[in-house]
Amino acid sequence: MLNVILCGAPGSGKGTQSDLLVKNYGLQHLSTGDLLRAEIKSGSQLGKQIEDLIAKGNLVSDHTMIHLIENFLDNLSPDCKGIIFDGYPRTVDQAEALTLMLKRRKMNAVMLDMYVDEDEIIKRLLERGKVSGRTDDNFETIKQRLKVFHEVTKPVCYYYLTRHNYFAINGNNTVENTFAQIDTILKLVQK
Ligand code: AMP
Repeated sequence: MLNVILCGAPGSGKGTQSDLLVKNYGLQHLSTGDLLRAEIKSGSQLGKQIEDLIAKGNLVSDHTMIHLIENFLDNLSPDCKGIIFDGYPRTVDQAEALTLMLKRRKMNAVMLDMYVDEDEIIKRLLERGKVSGRTDDNFETIKQRLKVFHEVTKPVCYYYLTRHNYFAINGNNTVENTFAQIDTILKLVQK
């Protein structure tokens, strides 16, 4: 299995690159943001609890997230070629839990860290906000999401870096050029 953790600030292009990975590698896309938004839409108890956190740009609890991932892994189809973790792990505790969850299933994952300049990120997210309908694609919340990313999620990159399981991607590029970098790395990883 080829399991890929896509890390990067909000707006760094994780969703776009995930679509290309699905198309080119047949991997299964797991976007925790999409899962959580579906939960809110369903009107469930969990959805009600997390709605405000997401709208304000804060993280959902590790406990909830780890449970969600465990559940996803338990229901994985046997013919799954690999998973794209898009938006998870976002804390070091989530990363440690993922390592254990994968180890128990004799799986592992590589991290691809997509770097994009902050000015470009804000521009992209404000543009997306015009059509996405997302409660968190507004200037105030974008600022908070970036703060959370730098303070809480960036250390997750170092977690993988220190475990020699980390690759940096320059996302200040066209979609095609960014994917070409990812493609080169994944081909080498699979050798
Ligand atoms: P995203 O679509 O990945 O930008 O996620 C949107 C929002 O969902 C985030 O700003 C968080 O509030 C929440 N979220 C998504 N993934 C996680 C996670 N792994 N841990 C905590 N909160 C998350």
